[in-house]
Amino acid sequence: MSTREHQQLRDLLRLPQNARCVDCAVLDPKWASFSLGYFMCIECSGIHRMLGTHITKVKSTTLDTWKPEYVEVVRRRGNVSFNAEWEARLPAGKTIDAHTGSAERERFIRAKYERQAFRGTATRDSYARAAAKMGCAVDESGALSPAVSGSDSPTAAAAAAAPRVSPAVARRLAAKKAKEAEERNKKARAAEAAEAAKRAAEAEAKAAAEVAKRAAEAEARAAAETDVGELFGSAPAPAPAPAASGGGGFAVRNRDGAGAGASCHRRLCVRGGRTCCHDGPHL
Ligand SMILES: [Zn+2]
Repeated sequence: MSTREHQQLRDLLRLPQNARCVDCAVLDPKWASFSLGYFMCIECSGIHRMLGTHITKVKSTTLDTWKPEYVEVVRRRGNVSFNAEWEARLPAGKTIDAHTGSAERERFIRAKYERQAFRGTATRDSYARAAAKMGCAVDESGALSPAVSGSDSPTAAAAAAAPRVSPAVARRLAAKKAKEAEERNKKARAAEAAEAAKRAAEAEAKAAAEVAKRAAEAEARAAAETDVGELFGSAPAPAPAPAASGGGGFAVRNRDGAGAGASCHRRLCVRGGRTCCHDGPHL
C-alpha cells in the first residue's frame, strides 16, 4: 500500500529530526503517533499501544491508512520538537536505548507519557539535547543538520553529534578562516613591500654615496692636476679679474658656459686652450 500520505511520511522520516525512535533512539523508526506527532521503533510502539488512545494514538507509517490531517500532525511536530518539551526535565543519562530491556523500557515510556514526569518548557538546551538524541546537530538559528549514521546507540550518537557542526556553522567557520588567512597574506605582503622598499632605499643611498664619492675623488684629482699645472705653468699667475668682466686675457664663465652669475661660486677659466677648475672665491 502506497499513497500520497505514505510518500509524505517517508519524506518526513528522511528529515534529520525524525531519523531515530523518539524514545530509544534506534535508527529508522516506522511507527508514529498521529495524535502527538512523533515517530518510534516497533518495540516502543508496542508499549505505546498499551498506554491507550486517550494518551497516544499509534499507526504504522507503511501498513496503516493515513488521513492528510494525521500526516499534518507529525509534520508540525517531529521528534526533536516533541522531546525538547516531553524530555525537557529528563535527568542526564536517564534515557533508554536499543539495549534496554522491555521492563525498563516500559517504565521509561509510562513515566514519560502517562505521568509526563519529564515534561517541561522547551528551552534552547532541551532542544539541543533532543537534537543530539536524534544524532543531529543544531546551529544557532535552530536549523538541524543531517543525522549521524552508522551508530545505533543514542549515547554514541550524542557523543558523535557533539563535535559536529552544521553546514551553516561550517560555512561561517570556513569564511572566518578564509578571512584570517587573507589578513595574514595581506600583512605578509605589506611586510614584504616594506622590506623591498627598505632594500631599494638602501641600494639607492649606497649608489648615491658611491656617485658622490667618485665625484669627490674626481674633483680632488682635477684640483690636484690644476695645482700641478699652475705650479709648472710658464706664464705667471694672472691677477684676479672681476668675474663679470672676463678681462685680462682670460675667458671666465661658469660651469655651464652661460656666463658668470652673481650667485655662482663655481667657475672655469680657460687659458691657452687648457681648462682648469677653481672654486669661485679663488678667482
Ligand atoms: Zn524505540
